[in-house]
Amino acid sequence: MVDDILFHALLLAVLLWLYRTWYWLRPRCRPTTDQTTPKPAQPTQTRSSVPKPFPGLSHKPHCAACEQVSAPGDHTPSAPLPLIPSAHGRPRQVDTSGHFCPHPACRYHGWVRRGNIRANGHPSGQPWRQLQCMACRTYFLETHGTPLHGKHVPAERLVWAVGALAEGLGIRAVARVFEMDPNTVLQWLVEAADHTAALSRYFLHDLHVSQIQLDELIALLSAVKAGEVSDAEAIQRLSRSPHWVWVAIDPVTKLLLSLDIGDRTLEMAQRFVHSVIQILAPGCVPLFLTDGFKEYTTALLTHFGSWVRPPRRQAQGPMPKPRWMPLPQLLYAQVVKSYRRRHVVRVHHRGVFGTLDRITLRLAAHGWQINTAFIERVNLTIRQHVAAVGRRVITLCKHEAGIRQQLALYHVYYNFCLPHASLRQPLLQPEPTNGSGSTKQWRPRTPAMAAGLSDHVWTLREVLLYRVPPWPQPQEL
Ligand SMILES: [Zn+2]
Repeated sequence: MVDDILFHALLLAVLLWLYRTWYWLRPRCRPTTDQTTPKPAQPTQTRSSVPKPFPGLSHKPHCAACEQVSAPGDHTPSAPLPLIPSAHGRPRQVDTSGHFCPHPACRYHGWVRRGNIRANGHPSGQPWRQLQCMACRTYFLETHGTPLHGKHVPAERLVWAVGALAEGLGIRAVARVFEMDPNTVLQWLVEAADHTAALSRYFLHDLHVSQIQLDELIALLSAVKAGEVSDAEAIQRLSRSPHWVWVAIDPVTKLLLSLDIGDRTLEMAQRFVHSVIQILAPGCVPLFLTDGFKEYTTALLTHFGSWVRPPRRQAQGPMPKPRWMPLPQLLYAQVVKSYRRRHVVRVHHRGVFGTLDRITLRLAAHGWQINTAFIERVNLTIRQHVAAVGRRVITLCKHEAGIRQQLALYHVYYNFCLPHASLRQPLLQPEPTNGSGSTKQWRPRTPAMAAGLSDHVWTLREVLLYRVPPWPQPQEL
C-alpha cells in the first residue's frame, strides 16, 4: 500500500519534471524552427506605429557649402541710382527698359529701368541694335553678354541648334542635322549653359514654397532598361563614374528648383539641399518628401535645425548640453518603395520630422496624399530632354561637366519655355484660331508663370537674348 502511494507520487514528480523541461525547451527551440519566416518586417512595423521623438545631435552636421557662403562676396549695391530723363523730351520708340550698362566703371552699371540706355539703330546694317549708356556715353550691342554676342552664324541657326539640344538631341546628332562641327555645337552648349545658369540664379530666389520633392535618378538606368547594356556592365560602369542627377521640384507650381549631378553620398546630399535652401525666402520651411535615401535626413537637419537646451531632469546637477534639433515647423516624410524585379511591391510612408498627421494635413490642402509621383514624372521628362541622361553616354558629353551643361539648359527650358498641361487655365472667352480648327479654350502656363516669376511663355530665342543683370533688381523699379 505504501509502495503504491510512493510509486504514484514518484510518477507524478517525473511527469511534472518532464512537462517543465518541455516547457523550458519550447521557446528556445522556436527560433531554429522558424528561421524561414521573414523577420525584417517586424522592426519596421513597430518603428512606424510608435514614432520615437528625435533625440537631437551633439554636433551640427558639416556642410561644405555653408562655410563657403559665409565668405564675403556679395557686391549688390544698396540703393538704385536716380532716373535719367529722356533727352529733348522726345518719347522713346524702342523699349530699352530691360537693358543695363555693361561697363563696370559706370555709375549706372548693372541697373535696369533707370532711363540711361538709348537705342541707336543698326550700325552698318547689322542684325543687332546698338545701344548707348547716357551716363558713361559708351556704346554696346543689344546682344552684349548673351550667347548670341559676336557670332557670325545667323541667330536662327544657333537658336534652333540649342533648341534641338534642349529637346533631347545629342551633340553629334545636332551637328549632323545642322551640318556643323560637333565641337562648335559643344561650344554653343557651354555658352548657352552658362547663360541659362545665370538666368536661373537671377529669377529663382526668395521663393515661398509649401512643398518640395527631392529625388535622384541614375543616368544609365534607361540604357539598362532598353537592353543596350547588361546590368553587370552598367553596374561596373557606374562604380567607375556614378552619374546621379539630383532633382528638386515644387509639386504645386511644378517649378524645377534645382538640378545637379554627382555621387549618391552625404556630401552631395548636403550640397544639393544647400542649393535648394539658397533659393528659398528667409524663414520659409516647406514640407519635404523624398525617397528612402537616408542622407537626406542629415542634410535637412543641417539646414533646418537649431540648438535646443533640453529641460533638466533633476532639480540639481549640471544643465544638460544643448542638442542640435530640427526646427519645430520642419515636416519631412520619406516614401520608401520596396522593389522586386523592378516592380514596386510595397510603398511605405515614414514621417521623419513632424508627425504623419501634420504632414497629411499639409498635403490635404491640395487634396493630395503622401507620394512622390510628381517628381517621378519630371524624371521621365528629364530623360526625354537630356540626351546624356536618357541614353548611353556616348556623345562628347561623356564627362560630368557635359551633363551639367545640358541640365542647366534644360532647367530654364522646362521652367520658362514648356507649358505644363496640369497648369493650364481656362480662358474666359474662347479665342478663334488662325486656321479652321476649334477655338482656343486654354491659356498655356509654364511653371515659372505658376510661380509668379514670369507673365508669359518664353521662346528659346528670348531666353538666349535675355541680358541677365548682375544682381536682382528691386520690384518697385
Ligand atoms: Zn554706363
